[in-house]
Amino acid sequence: MSTPIIFYNTLSHQRERFKPHHRRLVTMYTCGPTVYNYAHIGNLRTYIFEDVLKRVLLYNGYKVKHVMNITDVGHLTSDADEGEDKMEKGSKREGRSAWDIAAFYTAAFFSDIKQLNIILPEKFPRATDHIREQIHLVKRLERRGYTYRTVDGIYFDTSKLPDYGKLANLQKQELKAGARIDIGDKKNITDFALWKFSPTLEKRQMEWKSPWGVGFPGWHLECSAMSTKYLGQPFDIHCGGIDHIPVHHTNEIAESEAAYNKPLANYWLHGEFLLIDENKMAKSGENFITLATLRTHGFSPLAYRYFVLQTYYRKQLNFSWEALGAAETALERLYAAARLLPASLSSSPKQNKSRNKKIAGPLPELKQTFLAHINSDLDIPTALGELWSLIREKKIDVKTLLDFDRVLGLGIKEHLREPRVTLPNDVKQIVTERNEARAKKNWAESDRLRAELEKLGYEVNDSPSGTTVKKKRP
Ligand code: AMP
Ligand code: ZN
Repeated sequence: MSTPIIFYNTLSHQRERFKPHHRRLVTMYTCGPTVYNYAHIGNLRTYIFEDVLKRVLLYNGYKVKHVMNITDVGHLTSDADEGEDKMEKGSKREGRSAWDIAAFYTAAFFSDIKQLNIILPEKFPRATDHIREQIHLVKRLERRGYTYRTVDGIYFDTSKLPDYGKLANLQKQELKAGARIDIGDKKNITDFALWKFSPTLEKRQMEWKSPWGVGFPGWHLECSAMSTKYLGQPFDIHCGGIDHIPVHHTNEIAESEAAYNKPLANYWLHGEFLLIDENKMAKSGENFITLATLRTHGFSPLAYRYFVLQTYYRKQLNFSWEALGAAETALERLYAAARLLPASLSSSPKQNKSRNKKIAGPLPELKQTFLAHINSDLDIPTALGELWSLIREKKIDVKTLLDFDRVLGLGIKEHLREPRVTLPNDVKQIVTERNEARAKKNWAESDRLRAELEKLGYEVNDSPSGTTVKKKRP
C-alpha cells in the first residue's frame, strides 16, 4: 500500500499529487550558495528543507538525482542586475582574488552542510565551469528573437513571453503602473540581463569572451544551463528559498522555456525565511549568524537541524537563542530516550515467535502513520509530535526510530551510546587540578579553579555523583 506524496507546487499555486517523470527516479535541482561569504543559518534552513525533501523521496523508495549549483560569478548585489558582482565585492573586502574567495567559501559551505547531516547532492556544478553552455543558451534565445542589446549587456525581452511571471503571479500591468524606478535602457521593468559587458574603465577578475563582447553571464542563466545539462528539460523538482520566486526562478523559467519551448521543471517548492528579531536574516545585514557562531555558543549543528524541523517549511521561523536552547534540550532528550527503548518490538505475536534469521523491521503501522505525515507536503512537525507521543507511551522501538531518522537526519544511531563529552585540553587540565584540590579538601583552590573555568565560559556543577563541566549558554 503506497501513500501518495502531496506537495504544494508554487507553479500551480496549490497542493498536488507528486508524479515524477520516471517511475523510480526523481530529478531535482536546488539553487546553491553564492560563495562570497559564509552561509548564514537562514540559508542553511533552506538547505535543510531541501535535504528533508530529498530524504522523504528516498524513504518512499525513489532514487534521487540531485544537482546543486555553486554561484561563483554573476550574482549582483541587487537581484535586479544592478550593483557590484558579489564575488568581486568579497574579493575587495578580504583582499584576495575572487577565485580564492570562491574556493574558500565553497569549502566552508561543504563543511557546514556535512555537519548538518545534509546528504550531499550528486553534482555541484560551478557557474564558472559552464560559461560555454551559458553562451550557447543566449545564442539560442537570440536566434529565437527574445534578446536585445543595451549599453551594458544583452537582455531578455519579457514582453515576448505571454505567460511571463506565472510562478509569482506577477501582473505586468500592476508592475508598470507602480513602477517609479529607473529602468535605464531596458525596454520593460522585468527584463533581465543574459550577458553583462565588463565595465570599460575597470578590469574584472572574472570575465570571458563572447559573441557580444567581453563580460560575464547574468545570474539566472547558470541555473537554466546547468539544470538542463545534467537533468534534462523538464526535470521533476526545482527548489529554493521564497525570495527566488519573483526574480530568479521567474527568469530561469522565462529563458529556459523560451529557448526550448517546454517547461523547465514540473514542481517548484520554496522554503520560507528564517527571521531574526522579525527581520529576514541576510548576508548583507548585521544580523548574520553562521553555524560557526552557533558552535562558539556551545550548540551542536544538529540542535539547529532539530530547531528547523520543528516548523513547517512554508512557515516563517523566528530565531532566538532561547528557542535553540529548547531544541537542543529536546534533541538530547530524544537521544536519551532512544537509549532506553527496546531494540525491537514485534507488531504481531506471530512475528514474535518466529525463530527464523530474518530480523523484524520497523513497525509497519507506525511507519504508515509516519509516511502519511511526511508525504503530506513534508509535515515533519506533526511527525515529530507523533514520535514523542509514541516514546511517552512506550510504543516505539529502536529499529523504528532509526528508520524514521532516515528522514529526520538527527544522527540518532551515533548517539545510542552514552555521549563522551570532549572538553578542550586546557579545560580538562583545570578540571583535573580542581578534582585533586577537592580530594585534598583544598576549597580555596577549588573555588579559584571554578572561577577560572567560569571565566573560560564553562558552567561547573558539583553533585554527590561527581562534577560536570559544560559550556555556558549566551
Ligand atoms: P544565496 O547564497 O544568497 O544565493 O542564498 C542561498 C539560499 O538561501 C537561497 O535558496 C535563498 O533563497 C535562501 N535564503 C536566503 N536568505 C534566507 C533566509 N533568511 N531564510 C531562509 N532561506 C534564505
Ligand atoms: Zn538558481
